[in-house]
Amino acid sequence: MKYILVTGGVISGIGKGIIASSVGTILKSCGLHVTAIKIDPYINIDAGTFSPYEHVVPHITDAIQEWVMKQATISVDEDGVEPQVCVIELGGTVGDIESMPFIEAFRQFQFKVKRENFCNIHVSLIPQPNTTGEQKTKPTQNSVRELRGLGLSADLIVCRCTTPLETSVKEKISMFCHVEPTQVICVHDVSSIYRVPLLLEDQGVVRYLCERLNLPIEMRPRKML
Ligand code: ADP
Repeated sequence: MKYILVTGGVISGIGKGIIASSVGTILKSCGLHVTAIKIDPYINIDAGTFSPYEHVVPHITDAIQEWVMKQATISVDEDGVEPQVCVIELGGTVGDIESMPFIEAFRQFQFKVKRENFCNIHVSLIPQPNTTGEQKTKPTQNSVRELRGLGLSADLIVCRCTTPLETSVKEKISMFCHVEPTQVICVHDVSSIYRVPLLLEDQGVVRYLCERLNLPIEMRPRKML
């Protein structure tokens, strides 16, 4: 099983759900069986209704990992085939206190399932204030650093911006977030969200995931333009 964790930085509502589902869509279109999990990081347990003898959930991170592994194997296709890839969207933004147990669970999880079976896509915001019109990278640098401080390294940084990323901005994100320029993906505002999978495809996301996770996809050589 291959796990793709989608996290978010800077603010909520920037399109993590769209990115997670678009990644699933492009992998499905490559013939893979894909499932998805959406985590809303609330822990709705009323301690008042517990017996004092069952008061603690001491291993919440273990429970999260076991739950993810169990859910990931459930078929979501009509043919009943077990999924090969599970895209997990972690709601909220990195640094929120309510998502901490989940971040820690996935920090441990990446070692449990091994590097070739787990990767992280971090969706971040590139604001472009009207005053200067410049695309600002600092919030993204900070959120990638915060994520790394919590033990997760972004494999792909998906930058949500109003207009396509300038090359110099992409290079800056690459340099200061410690990733290759090919790992910086631009997803600007589009007229229809159905264009998002195409934006990801065009920027080599399938190729990257195929190599990073050793996915059973036959990649054709890129056409010379
Ligand atoms: P999150 O999961 O981060 O809360 P969503 O995926 O629910 O965010 O997206 C929030 C809103 O932004 C939705 O209405 C969605 O249709 C819109 N949206 C997301 N990505 C884009 C995009 N690239 N261009 C235009 N609208 C987008």
